[in-house]
Amino acid sequence: MIFQDPMTALNPLATIGRQIEEPMDYHMKLSASDKKKRTLELLRRVGIKNEQRVYEQYPHELSGGMRQRVVIAIALACDPLLLLADEPTTALDVTIQAQILDLMKELQNQMKTGIILITHDLGVVAEMADRVVVMYAGEVVEVAEVKELFENPLHPYTRSLLNSIPSNMQAKQKLHVIEGIVPSIQNLDREGCRFAPRVDWIPEEDHEKNPEMHEAAPNHFVRCTCYKTFYFPEDRVGENEYVATNS
Ligand code: SF4
Repeated sequence: MIFQDPMTALNPLATIGRQIEEPMDYHMKLSASDKKKRTLELLRRVGIKNEQRVYEQYPHELSGGMRQRVVIAIALACDPLLLLADEPTTALDVTIQAQILDLMKELQNQMKTGIILITHDLGVVAEMADRVVVMYAGEVVEVAEVKELFENPLHPYTRSLLNSIPSNMQAKQKLHVIEGIVPSIQNLDREGCRFAPRVDWIPEEDHEKNPEMHEAAPNHFVRCTCYKTFYFPEDRVGENEYVATNS
């Protein structure tokens, strides 16, 4: 697991070396010298050049980017088949973000580790993902290959998200806003579409009662068939007429 904020993911009272070695204690049978050798190798792999020194250091002595590299080294310590990265770059500034994403891609190629990347950043999705699962209020609403998703988004939530990205091309256009708020999962109705209250211009009879996943195109799944008739209010050109835009 790669956590969001490396400052809170690391133990402030333990050295970096100790923290990378800890999972090896639970999952691998290695001598102390082999553990150290492996830890130094992992530090080099994640792009830390002065690994001997960093091995002895504490988290507060490192920069944010270095700390996130250490968190990645811990995650890789036992050769995982799958990495779960929860917003791994949110706490970092933009240049460091790009370095960490490049590092993850490089390691994925070298180590053949799968990555499930959780993010709100559609730029990161476009850059990193092969396949995208869009979730809304705890439910999967769309699944597609990344290119297909950006070129042909179908679910109203996916389309609303993509429509909300500011773009230079639309300098004079009003920015699309998804009205309302994300519902509390605790108080959610178990029936009906969870996104319906946020597209209140869609008439009641047009909502699928209990939307299910449908295969709209090969390998492209979407919850609800309403994508066929969905429109944004700004696309409406007359009574029952609209120009369909996908993004
Ligand atoms: S039309 Fe379908 S996806 Fe859209 S809000 Fe209604 S049920 Fe949900």
